[in-house]
Amino acid sequence: MDIYHQLSVEEILKKLEVSDKGLTDEEVKQRQQKYGLNKIPEPKGKSLFFIFISQFLNPLIYILIIAAIISIVIGDYVDAIFIACIIGLNAVLGAYQEWRAENSAAALRNMVKVQSRVKRNGDVHNVVADELVPGDIVLLESGHKIPADLRVLEAQDLSVEEALLTGESIAVVKHKDVVEGGNEISLGDRTNMLFAATAVQKGRGTGVVVSTGEHTQIGKIAESLKTTEAEKPPLVNRMDSFSKKISFIILGACVILGAVGYMEGRPVTEIFFMMVALGVAAIPEGLPVAMTVALSIGTRRMAKRNVIVRKLPAVEGLGSCTLIASDKTGTLTMDQQSVKKIYLPSGKSYTVSGQGYNGEGEILDGDAPIQEINEELHRFIQANILSNEGVLRKKGDGEWEHSGDAVDVALRAIAFKAGKDPEYFMEGVEVVKMVPYESEIKYSAVFYKYNNELFFAMKGAMEVVEKKIKADAINEISEHSERLAEEGFRVLAMAGGKVQDTELEKVGELNLLGLIGMMDPLRPEAKEAVEECKNAGIKVMMITGDHPSTALAIAQEMGIAESKEQVATGAELSEYENLSIQEFAEKVKNINVCARVTPLQKQRIVEAMKSLGHFVAVTGDGANDAPALKSAHIGVAMGAGTDLAKEAASIIVTDDNFASIAAGVEEGRFTFDNLRKIIYLLISTGAASFITVALAIFLNIPLPFIAVQLLWLNLVTNGIQDIGLAFEKGDITVMQRPPRKPEETIFDKLMISQVVVSSLWMAAVTFSVWYYLLYTLEMEEVHARTLTVMLMVLMQNFQTLNCRSEIKSAFKVPVKNNYILVIGIILAQIVHICASYIPGLNTALQLDPIALNEWLLLLPTAMSLLVVMELFKWFWRSKYKLSNETVTSEHD
Ligand code: ADP
Ligand code: MG
Repeated sequence: MDIYHQLSVEEILKKLEVSDKGLTDEEVKQRQQKYGLNKIPEPKGKSLFFIFISQFLNPLIYILIIAAIISIVIGDYVDAIFIACIIGLNAVLGAYQEWRAENSAAALRNMVKVQSRVKRNGDVHNVVADELVPGDIVLLESGHKIPADLRVLEAQDLSVEEALLTGESIAVVKHKDVVEGGNEISLGDRTNMLFAATAVQKGRGTGVVVSTGEHTQIGKIAESLKTTEAEKPPLVNRMDSFSKKISFIILGACVILGAVGYMEGRPVTEIFFMMVALGVAAIPEGLPVAMTVALSIGTRRMAKRNVIVRKLPAVEGLGSCTLIASDKTGTLTMDQQSVKKIYLPSGKSYTVSGQGYNGEGEILDGDAPIQEINEELHRFIQANILSNEGVLRKKGDGEWEHSGDAVDVALRAIAFKAGKDPEYFMEGVEVVKMVPYESEIKYSAVFYKYNNELFFAMKGAMEVVEKKIKADAINEISEHSERLAEEGFRVLAMAGGKVQDTELEKVGELNLLGLIGMMDPLRPEAKEAVEECKNAGIKVMMITGDHPSTALAIAQEMGIAESKEQVATGAELSEYENLSIQEFAEKVKNINVCARVTPLQKQRIVEAMKSLGHFVAVTGDGANDAPALKSAHIGVAMGAGTDLAKEAASIIVTDDNFASIAAGVEEGRFTFDNLRKIIYLLISTGAASFITVALAIFLNIPLPFIAVQLLWLNLVTNGIQDIGLAFEKGDITVMQRPPRKPEETIFDKLMISQVVVSSLWMAAVTFSVWYYLLYTLEMEEVHARTLTVMLMVLMQNFQTLNCRSEIKSAFKVPVKNNYILVIGIILAQIVHICASYIPGLNTALQLDPIALNEWLLLLPTAMSLLVVMELFKWFWRSKYKLSNETVTSEHD
């Protein structure tokens, strides 16, 4: 049943019961009911059960399990149950968090839908690929992902990359002719078939859908496709290995402490349990999960600001980005290209009214709309319409619908503005061959027959068209062209003439048909975003295929460049082709605008900037932007870009807007700040517990906590608060700081000093209070310990408040920025106090009720930590002249 390749184009259309006009709406509906959605089953993610189980695969948990077993052996059942509960709770918390992070990543992936151009009812529409049915006729061009299995109907220079299915990485050239043979023909040799999930590298084509969803070739093997293990962000990786290293150090220290305790004559079981608990308390085992959660919250926030993260490391990367190389059209500009000026060879010129992708407006001769289309104008418009892949149409309800290349759509609009349907200019014309637009060649062209004679027409960049036209026609027109470009217009020239045959090489001299100036207004918010990036120490570059004068005019307006010296053209860059990347980097170091560059040059610029130490984000939309996107630290694809660009990118900006990239950088910095806060909290509280116990052992006095109390402490103070910090809202003053150096470690001077100061203070106070209660007040041990544990809980809670900002006062960070955290802290207090009243739990924990006046004495003692850390922050701010004003982001 699969042997569609044997059938001719006519046969296949007949078999699928579709005309060359495509299916009707009615037929589509019927088939959708019959065949269902065109969805390829995705490789399944990890199940909740699997995630839950994997929580136990952790050396620390093994030790706890051993501890529980030993408790049972020695008959200490209450402790055993308690430890089991701790293990269980830990796993539930961890699994839930990981599972949520995983789900939200999957949800984000699904936000980016593949769109296809489909012929239905005789017209071309944009259709979500999920809704395709067998018999649908799909139009394809370079960069498109193939949405279902198709039989080629027409192919023009069409080559497709099928590595996913066949393993063959060289693109396969496709055609519409019959391939002889049956099922024995391998997929790779079915050169008239296109397979779902592969992608068009080059050329154009049309194909008819033969199978959809799970019936496609990829659908059949989807089950066997491995889930690609999501790449772990470098930071999480580094933290993973940091956790491991520190675990060993802590375990080593525990062994030493245990030995000291043993020599002091403490009971072996007490020592063993104590060391296990100490290990659990001190080792920041929650770090990797908490970081994953923080990154996942970061991606959710970015999504709200139109940035879809495809690769998790990009969240962290965006925060350390030092250079953004942006496209011009659509990213810095509004993507409402409209033709404003027309110059014809006779010297006649027109202005064109209207804005955006619709046909509303007029061609004006002076102030008045033209009355008729003279021959010169007719031929000019014809050239624009003929070599054109755009679609622009007024629907029944008066709305305009458009699809395809934006420049082409804008050129189509001229026909409507001349009062005619584009079809009018096609009368009597038979298109013989197309040369589709690719950004490498910067033009598109067509061979067509008219009155039985063969003609050629082209439109494209002035420099390209120029080469084809008679020398004397150029001078005057190139003056116009240069002037328009300097004013920021995008200029296209049209030329045409008779030809003998359809060989591109043999096309002789052509006649100039005219010139257009196209305008695309700047995005005001993009201009602000450029300013913001500059304040944040980020260099902004413009890389465009457009003319250098046009590019400079717009760059000046955007604040990206001031003068010509900052502009390099593709021609200039090609002179440096033989230089090494370092030498090349020297040449482009001070360049802010690259014009008329090819996609390969774009990649080279990215490499050069990387070699200068930049952390580069680069935007791209075309199929051939993929190399540059992959080279960059962060590839940014546009929502309106090709599927291939999206697949190569690490983030997708859904509204194509430069301002969203800047928002992404801001969110990246927020997220990184939050990660630091989590690390700060976990390390400092762990160290505090450890030091307190170590002091007691070295001074040979009773331990301030018993083992289960330490486990409990770890759960109540860290279990939820660290995650709470991940929800901390951003402080937008982050955009007034220079970017973080990507190689910079998290454990910088600030991190080390704040951890040392805060943990020493917590330990010193707790230990002193313990000592004072025992030896000065001669309090009974159980109650003294209850108070000491309470003090530690309070201090660690205050420490969470400290961690909300590393350099700004804890009182400057509004409570409303993070209700989750504040509620978490209050809950922790309540839970802890309740624990001393709950029968069973209080015996296990050896906690007895605390009187209110005791609690009221402990509170200010714990608060001393706030005072110390406020002083520390004040000192740090004055040393580095940092501001204490927080400005909260409105985004959540
Ligand atoms: P940008 O970087 O601004 O997106 P492009 O690479 O899209 O620039 O375009 C480069 C040049 O190619 C344009 O200046 C224009 O002269 C020409 N060009 C762009 N689109 C088309 C098209 N659809 N048909 C013919 N020429 C085009
Ligand atoms: Mg473009």
